[in-house]
Amino acid sequence: MGPQPRALLRLILPVLFMGLVGYGRGLLDHFNEDQLTLLGYTPYLLAAAGVVLAYQFNRSRFLLLAIFTAGCFWTIRDQLQVSLADPHALEVYLSVALTWPLAMLLLLLVPERGIMNRWGFVYTVALGVLALAAPRLVNLVATLLSPGSEWLATWPSEHFVMPKLMVALFATTALVGVLLLLWRDEETEVAILSTLAAGAAVLGGLHLSYISLSMISAAGLVQLSCILRSSYAMAYRDELTGLLGRRALNEKLNGLGPRYSLAMLDVDHFKKFNDTHGHDVGDEVLKMVASRIARVGGGGTAFRYGGEEFCVVFPRKNAEQCVDALEAIRESVADYRMTLRDKGKRPVKSKEGERKRGNMATRIKRGTVAVTISLGLAERSEELFTPEEVIKAADTQLYRAKQAGRNKLCY
Ligand code: GH3
Ligand code: MG
Ligand code: MG
Repeated sequence: MGPQPRALLRLILPVLFMGLVGYGRGLLDHFNEDQLTLLGYTPYLLAAAGVVLAYQFNRSRFLLLAIFTAGCFWTIRDQLQVSLADPHALEVYLSVALTWPLAMLLLLLVPERGIMNRWGFVYTVALGVLALAAPRLVNLVATLLSPGSEWLATWPSEHFVMPKLMVALFATTALVGVLLLLWRDEETEVAILSTLAAGAAVLGGLHLSYISLSMISAAGLVQLSCILRSSYAMAYRDELTGLLGRRALNEKLNGLGPRYSLAMLDVDHFKKFNDTHGHDVGDEVLKMVASRIARVGGGGTAFRYGGEEFCVVFPRKNAEQCVDALEAIRESVADYRMTLRDKGKRPVKSKEGERKRGNMATRIKRGTVAVTISLGLAERSEELFTPEEVIKAADTQLYRAKQAGRNKLCY
């Protein structure tokens, strides 16, 4: 699938939240020493919660992100509370500023493969080596750059202290993160990008009061919310199509009022389609169909019911009011032509495929495939009282649509 611009919406709340925290961190002035000492543990507590959740959901990238963030906070708290004019402090500062974006880049680029396996181990070692080797890396970079190079000198501004090299690294990583977010549309990228932003704020504004405590706590909270959101998606969304799944449908049905309509949708002759074009092409087509159904209008919500069957629920609508939205889906699926990219995936048993194919021909022109869907619609009434009864009625209508020649809506 190509880029999904909607994925950028995921960034809105974290950006607002972190901006607000950065802006409001002055409120910490109202706390006394003891309270501030206690508050100083916040990033560790959040990281611990992150580790527990990441472990529960078997997410190595979240786990390492939480540990890394806490580690950076500890380093800043322990070693960077003096002026950067101090050579040791400067070395630590440059190391953290180099490691932060590189660690985020690493976590962005590696695929999620769980924790307790060799990949989890490899990721952990890679991050550990990066963190431990950071001072040497800084020295190496300093030697490689011509002496007195401006790239490692702190920024000549009172408000922002990060050297240009690190600014470039942060910017590159941010760009990579946004691109990956566009393509993957997942919460892990949001968590990593937020942590990257926190790093830029902390290291660029190191001289500002409470900057590390506030921004790293904010990043920890965003990480937690991202883990929870992505595990919610795991439980409620269907992996292949990204649509809500049966669990979500059941909850939706339990919460409906006295008036609603429900449609069952089923891909026509899909078994033949799979036999002719292969299961992989079948999966691609299911994704396409799902994306069309997901865009249903009329206040409907789409679910994958199972296999090649989908369900659309219209709260507060009678059947008549849903017809236009459903007809629009039916037409948009029927009009779609999918190009077969891979020659090897073209009809393997093309003769057999052609023989089997009935009037619902699936290959329209060479290298292009198309499918249709049939729909059955029913509304809740005194006779169809429970959601199960409404689903059954919609199923009966779907059967009628199939009998009537498919690519039809019956109600
Ligand atoms: P009808 O028009 O009567 O609905 O015919 P049909 O062949 O679509 O009906 P049937 O229920 O017999 O077959 C459904 C097929 O859908 C069987 C299975 O191969 C295919 N299918 C179900 N889930 C998936 C999936 O996730 N991916 C792919 N590629 N195929 C699937
Ligand atoms: Mg079916
Ligand atoms: Mg079918």
